[in-house]
Amino acid sequence: MVGSIIDGKQHAINLRERIKVATENLISKYSITPGLAVVLVGNDPASEIYVRNKGIQTKEAGMKSLEFRLEEKTSEENLLKKVRELNEDKSVNGILVQFPVPKHMSQQKIIESILPSKDVDGLHPVNSGYLASGLNGMVPCTPQGSAILIKETLGDLSGLHAVVVGRSNLVGKPIAQLLLKENCTVTICHSRTKNLKELCLSADIIVAAVGIPELIKEDWVSKGTTIIDVGINRLDAPEKGPGKTKLVGDVDFNGAIKNASSITPVPGGVGPMTIACLLLNTLIATCAQNNIQFSELEF
Ligand code: NDP
Repeated sequence: MVGSIIDGKQHAINLRERIKVATENLISKYSITPGLAVVLVGNDPASEIYVRNKGIQTKEAGMKSLEFRLEEKTSEENLLKKVRELNEDKSVNGILVQFPVPKHMSQQKIIESILPSKDVDGLHPVNSGYLASGLNGMVPCTPQGSAILIKETLGDLSGLHAVVVGRSNLVGKPIAQLLLKENCTVTICHSRTKNLKELCLSADIIVAAVGIPELIKEDWVSKGTTIIDVGINRLDAPEKGPGKTKLVGDVDFNGAIKNASSITPVPGGVGPMTIACLLLNTLIATCAQNNIQFSELEF
């Protein structure tokens, strides 16, 4: 028997619907409409698509979407000035600078310029600190979406062994913290880890966030493992026609599904959850900035 596919698209639709209802409750009770500002520097085609989708889904959730575009060659100081303006703007509850930014800018400096209370990407060191301390703060969207998928698939995670492959600030470290908070026993692996295959074989849950196409093979997966594949890798696909490409994850999906109890596909797994969690963070940030209990929104 092969494992079941975790339908991230459907989970994200359900989550966005709940966010929309909670936003309506916020507007009707307090006349406050959450505002999300996205800043895009340059014309990277992938970033353009992400920003467009974010704008569409923000409006669909009943929130205000603001988009700011700066030229590729704009100075770092100009971008920081825009962030400072948005920090001070009371109608803006969440700020997201689309990464990557051009090479002449420091990504870390930009992350640290955003007010932690408006940092809906959850990357500011203050928010990573809250997460590491088990306190409430803004949680990065992709790890948050991954954790929701795991919980909705498995329920209680207490005592399960989670192997997280990847230790980036964006994905690996925060997902490890979230799983620790759910009482998993967490092993974090990275490029210097020895016996990666054996560690994966000992896992109840594997989260792959590496950026190497199909690194995790069928014989790295024990029977009954739940697999969350965060990886997005674009490969040439001459079989689909000249110049065509395809997306694959960090897990060999067709092999791993033979042993896994459940697995996310790429695309259509973790990806759709990322924007949904961005909207959730915007709603949470709006409540916190206005001293409103999130529970009042009946989310
Ligand atoms: P990074 O490149 O920042 O981190 C990759 C991690 O993988 C590092 O910790 C690295 O280890 C580790 N690694 C590299 N090679 C190996 C190896 N052979 N064995 C074990 N570990 C290894 O990537 P991100 O965390 O930003 O992203 C990971 C993947 O997730 C990418 O494919 C990215 O496109 C995707 N992604 C998807 C998102 C979504 O919305 N679904 C959002 C964000 C990312 P070390 O630290 O030692 O270098």
